[in-house]
Amino acid sequence: MSEPYDDESFRDTIGTLDKDGNRKFIFPKKPHGRFYSYRKYVSYLLLAILIANPFIKVNGNQFMMFNVLERRFNIFGFPFWPQDFYLFVIIMLIGVAFLLLFTVVFGRIFCGWICPQTIFLELVFRRIEYWIDGDRGAQIRLNKQKWDAEKIRKRVTKWVIFFMISFLIANVFLAYLISSDKLFQMVEDGPALHLSNFISLLIFTGVFYFVFVWFREQVCIIACPYGRLQGVLLDNKSINVAYDFVRGEKEEGRAKFKKNEDRATTGKGDCIDCNQCVNVCPMGIDIRNGTQLECTNCTACIDECDTIMESVNLPKGLIRYATEDEIVKKEPFKFTARMKGYTAVLVILIGMLIGMLFLRNDVEATILRLPGQLFEHKGDKISNVYTYKVINKTIKDFNEVNFKIMNPKGTIRNVGGSNVMISREGTSQGTLFIEIDQALLDGDKTKVTIGVYNGNELLETATTNFLGPRTFN
Ligand code: SF4
Ligand code: SF4
Repeated sequence: MSEPYDDESFRDTIGTLDKDGNRKFIFPKKPHGRFYSYRKYVSYLLLAILIANPFIKVNGNQFMMFNVLERRFNIFGFPFWPQDFYLFVIIMLIGVAFLLLFTVVFGRIFCGWICPQTIFLELVFRRIEYWIDGDRGAQIRLNKQKWDAEKIRKRVTKWVIFFMISFLIANVFLAYLISSDKLFQMVEDGPALHLSNFISLLIFTGVFYFVFVWFREQVCIIACPYGRLQGVLLDNKSINVAYDFVRGEKEEGRAKFKKNEDRATTGKGDCIDCNQCVNVCPMGIDIRNGTQLECTNCTACIDECDTIMESVNLPKGLIRYATEDEIVKKEPFKFTARMKGYTAVLVILIGMLIGMLFLRNDVEATILRLPGQLFEHKGDKISNVYTYKVINKTIKDFNEVNFKIMNPKGTIRNVGGSNVMISREGTSQGTLFIEIDQALLDGDKTKVTIGVYNGNELLETATTNFLGPRTFN
């Protein structure tokens, strides 16, 4: 059998740069076929979800919000406070473990089907480009064409549309960051009253415009850390978009197709060297060189090669989703020990998250003794002074928040009044005096349990230490 990878130059070059290191634009052929149609449906559904997410409210909470500056996050309508950061970290770890497991099993399926960068570039911006500039051949011609009326018209139309879409994406992005309510407020009041948010909006628009007009697929090659991880995550047992080089090359190697020839008897591979899989590739690579860092598993080459195979009456699937072992050793897909390990980590993390979500309180109370203060005698009673902080994580107001000492018996007085109000997602801080009969104390340090109530409804309990005189036996 001939060596499938004779030309090794692809190893030290990337499709987006020329020999001098200048940006080389890729003009991929417009994909057609089964996978492209599925990807369109998946993409439009994901785009609808991505755009709608920050504008949906659940119990008054934004469905998804990542307000990094104020350290407030909403995930699926659940508000996460800085105090819930551990939950947020676990959710992030689950995301990472899921992505690792997914990559080890299914290769870069995330890049090709789910990543917003791919969806926007390939199924929004690129489709508009095909509509304005035409397919690959027309785009190459237009690129070389001098700046005549046609080129100016097409370029200006495209750039204006690209700018408008970038502006739209920037608005959605901002709604995720600062909340859709603040975004609408800015629209209502005008940019002058929300200058910092408006400047952020313009910067985001500029970044998206730059990425989708010029930087494009280089995000996946140069900027994306996930792309860089592929080398350590993928192995011979990962499912990838792969060229079946055993079938494609056979004993005599790939060769151009001659009319009416029977490939089964000539010893030539099934690849007819038409180069269409290269022309359609948005990353500018040749999948026949094997799995490469640039490949986003977009499936365009599968569709293209299937069309070619059909036209020359050869079986489809020369390029397909397959593992290296399936191609070389004809081994079916196996769930390996590595995959089982990742699955176990994922299950443990999800279990931890569920447990923590059940234990998470809607109200968080911290009661601490005032630093530097000892106790005070008040007749038979001993008095201690405390500071408290109560956080209302819910979206309802608590109008009658009060404190009761649950164990041991005693009295509690809130300097701010017996009932305080804590508005939705608000906090309250103040000072408490606690008095306990000396006979009920457990030596010089007694554990006390304090209930935080709204009216008669117990919201949360907190424990703290109560100091008293040392007792000598
Ligand atoms: S499209 Fe298929 S037949 Fe054509 S060069 Fe690529 S692998 Fe070979
Ligand atoms: S090699 Fe195929 S799957 Fe990979 S990026 Fe190119 S067209 Fe997409």
